[in-house]
Amino acid sequence: MSDVRQHADDIHDQFSDHLDVSVEDVEERLATLVDEYKVPMDEARRSVTNHYLEEAGLERDDLSSGSSEAVNVEDIEEPEEWVDLTAKVIELWDPRSDSVAQVGLLGDPTGTIKFTKWAKSDLPALEEGGVYSLQNVVTDEYQGRYSVKLNSTTVIEERDEDIEVGDDTSEIEGALIDMQSGSGLIKRCPEDDCTRVLQNGRCNEHGEVEGEFDLRIKAVVDDGLDAHEVIFDKDATENLTGLSLEEAKDMAMDALDTTVVADEIAADIVGTYYRIEGPTFGRYVLADDVTELDGPADAEELLIKARSM
Ligand SMILES: [Zn+2]
Repeated sequence: MSDVRQHADDIHDQFSDHLDVSVEDVEERLATLVDEYKVPMDEARRSVTNHYLEEAGLERDDLSSGSSEAVNVEDIEEPEEWVDLTAKVIELWDPRSDSVAQVGLLGDPTGTIKFTKWAKSDLPALEEGGVYSLQNVVTDEYQGRYSVKLNSTTVIEERDEDIEVGDDTSEIEGALIDMQSGSGLIKRCPEDDCTRVLQNGRCNEHGEVEGEFDLRIKAVVDDGLDAHEVIFDKDATENLTGLSLEEAKDMAMDALDTTVVADEIAADIVGTYYRIEGPTFGRYVLADDVTELDGPADAEELLIKARSM
């Protein structure tokens, strides 16, 4: 079978339930693009698929390839693939759009991955801590990060088992839009293994103590889809701001006020674009590796993506 015919067959299969179209029609459209206009096959496939999506009044997520493959989270490395996953719902987040019923983090022994469940898919609600087999989910990719989308063809089955969730590294690229309270020059409890951040000189556990100064930033980074909470420890904060703990202490001493440090840091970093990599702990990402970026990779693309959610 020719290459074009094979691709035409794939596309035809996807639409056979939705449209009265022959494989020959599909093949002809593909051949025109590929042979006459020298369009690369990937692009031609996309273009022809879009044509039939429009004709059928469907969205890409409505289509099933009919051959989803059982995978682990770490195996997801391509967008627009149909896969089956067995995973635990680690957290649910607040959807930022009415078109999304649920959004959150799934995990299996090989890692974690974001999921989105469309409102129109009319699927049962997933619960935090629940383990599910999810058949027919579509992979997606945005700026190098993968996610899965639950759609109207997805079959959800709750499993009566627990699964251990493996470690995971997150990568976020976006604007640092907010710095939360408890950032800047802080004091921690000096008791062994406590290190709680003091509130007005008091530790929740040990009461009034002579605190030890530390630097940290709790920031909110928006990647255009979600807001992520990111923690910068002392080293990460010093690297990010160029301000050392000693300099921060001097600043606070001169001003007789520790909040000047947070103000100075906020003025420096809020509104700046970063790529941040690090391990995930619950809802926080620990900033291990930080790169400052010029700006959004493509502001227009970001907006379109945000709208399509
Ligand atoms: Zn303490």
